[in-house]
Formats: sequence, structure tokens, C-alpha cells
Amino acid sequence: MAVKLSEKDEIKVNEIVDILKNKNSFLITSHINIDGDGIGSEIALFIGLKKLRKNVEIINQDKLPKMFKFLPYSDKIKIFNEKIKEKNFDVGIIIDCGNIERVGELKDFILNLPFLINIDHHLTNSNFGHINWSNPIFSSTGEMIYFICKKLGQINKKQAICLYTSILYDTYCFTHHLSNFTFDIVKNLLTKGINPEKIAQRIFFEKSIKSVNLFKEALKTFKFYKKLSLCTMEISNKLLKKTRTQEEHTEGFVDFLISIKGVEVGILFKERANGVKVSMRSKGKVDVENIAKKFGGGGHREAAGCFFENKSLKEVEKIILKELQ
Ligand code: AMP
Ligand code: MN
Ligand code: MN
Repeated sequence: MAVKLSEKDEIKVNEIVDILKNKNSFLITSHINIDGDGIGSEIALFIGLKKLRKNVEIINQDKLPKMFKFLPYSDKIKIFNEKIKEKNFDVGIIIDCGNIERVGELKDFILNLPFLINIDHHLTNSNFGHINWSNPIFSSTGEMIYFICKKLGQINKKQAICLYTSILYDTYCFTHHLSNFTFDIVKNLLTKGINPEKIAQRIFFEKSIKSVNLFKEALKTFKFYKKLSLCTMEISNKLLKKTRTQEEHTEGFVDFLISIKGVEVGILFKERANGVKVSMRSKGKVDVENIAKKFGGGGHREAAGCFFENKSLKEVEKIILKELQ
């Protein structure tokens, strides 16, 4: 099999696997507004550790979006609460987070654990943790977890479903940010008897009517800035209320913007209770991570995001547009 890590990455994997084999209890977490990459990576690693008979829990700040409920063990995932603060873990494993703030409410708890492992593929990573394995060459943390799981034992079908989900999600159906490993890893996962059509269907082709209704309304805010090759759309709280939807119903909207011919950058502005979340996508000419970074966010060249606290949609749109001009 052609999949071979660089020496540097191989060393990191070995360091991580050593800790996983030698310690007993593990907390696995990922970023706020958990996504397909984070969740697939968490569960695949959870299974790998369970196979070694370790005590392991997945705990996130936010609840699992419904679209991922088909994943094995997804019902075992916990939401952070006061009671969890009384628990002890030897090791905290933080996946798909460019900085520690991204774990949200778990931050203080996790920083108090005796040992932290940081596994990430964002362009900018603040190098937190006792072991930091961060490398943007990977399409997804799913690819990184694949190498770890392989060293923990044979990858089983359930792990393969989760890892395939991670990769499929973060490459948006193999359309961007592919790595040199992607197709070799996928080929290997397919030998585990997973059904790739079914997984793609679950993640990308089961839009709810609620989501479509929201999209219909959101399209009324659609703007095309020809000179900037830019498209934008906005989702106000008023609109969410009117269509009885939540932010998770906006899944795929920003990817629609970037699917338009002649568009280089697509931006979705999402109003939240305490500010505005900006989701950006690029076909590659414009580095959207560079923009997100300026406002405390992060991501990748082709997909990045940031959050503006206590600002209105109009204010944020003005700031971002100015940055793009
Ligand atoms: P999203 O627009 O939320 O789908 O995110 C696109 C990419 O940017 C993902 O890789 C996210 O992890 C990253 N990202 C989004 N928001 C932030 C943020 N506030 N800080 C750092 N990275 C972010
Ligand atoms: Mn992510
Ligand atoms: Mn990711």
C-alpha cells in the first residue's frame, strides 16, 4: 500500500500511540459546532481505545447535529456539564482544533488534565498540548486518526465508516483539500465493507424540507459582487425564527455559493444570539484563512471561519467586504 507518512509525522504517531497504550483513561473532544471531521475522528479513536479496553469518553460542548446520528456509537457522545468536572482523565485528546479556545466551555477543564494531545490539520495551530501533531497537508483529522488507529490494531468496519465520514465531509465529497493520502486511505477503508453511497447520502443528500425552506428565504439575501468574484448570503435570527430552523439547517449553503461559475469566494454570514459567524469558501485564488485569521478565526486556504462578538450582520459584512477589496 502506497500510504506512507513522512519521518516527522511517523515520529508523532508513535509518540501518540505510546501514550494511548500506556495510559488508562482518555477524554476525546473536538471543536464547538462539532462537524463531520471532528465527530468521525472522535468515534474512530474511541473505538480504537475501547479495543484496548481503555476507559474513554467523548465529550463535546455542543450537541451532535442530527445528520451524524447514523454513525456507530454516536449515542455515547456526551455534552459537557458541571458533573463531568468531577471526573478524572489521564489524557485529553483534542481533535481538529487550531487553538485551545476552539473546545469552548471544556477549555479550563481540559487544561487541568495531566496530559494533552493535540491532533489537527488547520493552517495555523497554536501548538498547545504536551504532544502536538499538527500538519495542514492532511485533508482531515480523519486521515491522521487513520494512521493512529492502524497502529492500535486492525481497523474495523465501524471505524472505517467514521473515518470515511471525516474525509468525505472535510473534502466536501472529494472536491477540495485532497491530500496525497486521501484516495489510498479511502481505498483501504472500502475493503472493510462500508457502503460509500449510503454515507454520502446521509451527509449530503438528505436535506430536510425545513432546510430547503430556509435556503429559499436565504437566497433572497444573495449578492453577487462581480468585480470581487464574490457571492454572499446572510441568515438572520429573524429568518431562523420564521422558518423554525437552527444553524445546523444551513449546512451546505456556503458550499452552494462556491459552486457557482465565475465565483472565487463564497461567504455566509450567520447571526447568532451574541454576534455573527462568518463562513468562507474559496476556489483557491484567494486565501480565506488569511482573512479569518485577522479576526481571530482560522481554517484552511479554501475553507475558513471567524466570529464577531456583539456585532450586527451589517457591521460584519462591511468589515469583511473591506478586507476583500
Ligand atoms: P465553517 O465555515 O464553520 O464550516 O469552517 C470552515 C473551516 O474554518 C473549518 O476548518 C473550521 O474548523 C475553521 N473555523 C471556523 N470558524 C473558526 C474559528 N472561529 N476559529 C478557528 N477556525 C475556525
Ligand atoms: Mn472541523
Ligand atoms: Mn477538519
